[in-house]
Amino acid sequence: PSVFSTVEMAPRDPILGLTEAFNADTRTTKVNLGVGVYYDDAGKLPLLRAVRAAEEARMKNAPPRGYQPIEGAPAYNKAVQDLLFGQGAALTADGRVVTAQALGGTGALKIGADFLKRLLPQAKVYISDPSWENHRALFEAAGFEVDVYPYFDADTRGVRFDAMIAHLKALPASQIVLLHACCHNPTGADLTDAQWAEVVEVCKARNLVPFLDMAYQGFADGIDQDAVAVRQFVQSGLSFVISSSFSKSFSLYGERVGALSIVTASKDESARVLSQLKRTIRTNYSNPPTHGGAVVASVLATPELRSMWEEELGEMRERIRAMRTGLVDKLSARGVARDFSFVVRQRGMFSYTGLTVAQVDRLRDEFGIYAVSTGRICLAALNSKNIDYVADSLATILK
Ligand code: PLP
Repeated sequence: PSVFSTVEMAPRDPILGLTEAFNADTRTTKVNLGVGVYYDDAGKLPLLRAVRAAEEARMKNAPPRGYQPIEGAPAYNKAVQDLLFGQGAALTADGRVVTAQALGGTGALKIGADFLKRLLPQAKVYISDPSWENHRALFEAAGFEVDVYPYFDADTRGVRFDAMIAHLKALPASQIVLLHACCHNPTGADLTDAQWAEVVEVCKARNLVPFLDMAYQGFADGIDQDAVAVRQFVQSGLSFVISSSFSKSFSLYGERVGALSIVTASKDESARVLSQLKRTIRTNYSNPPTHGGAVVASVLATPELRSMWEEELGEMRERIRAMRTGLVDKLSARGVARDFSFVVRQRGMFSYTGLTVAQVDRLRDEFGIYAVSTGRICLAALNSKNIDYVADSLATILK
């Protein structure tokens, strides 16, 4: 018999499975609210103007495709640091940050997890309840035991902050705490600046290892505003880890552009951390690809392209906001009694709507509207053409 004859079928990814079902649906009015992707008002995946300009300039130069350094291009890594910590931040000047280009946010999480597993083999990883569905699987695959801390409050559709803090306060030292830096996926519920200050304080007092996941910088309030958590951790003097992604903010999903940054206590520590990180990368994929990182670095370093990108990012942010308020207004105009105002307070691409599994099923079966069974919807999949249909359908199932 074949060596593979005993291989069992792995469970399907729930969200990708949803997209398959959506694609097979023949109704012309169908809407996929299950994805985690930004679509423009025409329902299309945008290629940003700034990206296109940077790509055209790059292709004109026909750059050769040699290997990159193991940790990626220095110009790219510097640009990542400036976005996360602010232009000319003291800690970057002091050599207290190590940044390695990575294969998207997922790749950054993976090399971060591998690095931490070697350093802290006994540590557990704590993720929010709920969290991005790949967090648990990814850290478990790196050999960690993964547990949760309380996060989403189904009653207020905000954060169970007291329970979260109490849980973090009770953790033993050196545990890894994964935090969504902004635009929490899947709930859309974020911490306030004052709440971040408390989290930072607890991490410091308990000697925890914060791992910030920044996949949506610029989608809530703006580039610097969305880095508040990062900047507060920097202020605290703690050492911590950040994974970041440009998949959404540059609409470069398939190019796999992200980075892992590690904030250390000194330049000397950084050199040692970088050497270990390079070892992790070398044994995973050797070095990152060139194109996506080069495009992002050139957009960020070229003033005209940079302002074009900031404008486009602002357009994406504003459009999602308009869809949030639009949906809430339309539901109330249709006489839906339930209070959906939380949708406007939630940030980023998603909302945990509180729809039940049965309601999600009805939306799909009767109306061809696909949401995740948890009730998560992606507001960036709404547009001026489908929002009334979605509001009508929601109003019908909620009455
Ligand atoms: N982290 C969070 C919270 C996300 O929502 C995502 C993508 O949806 C990622 C990480 C992964 O990003 P990437 O697609 O760049 O790997």
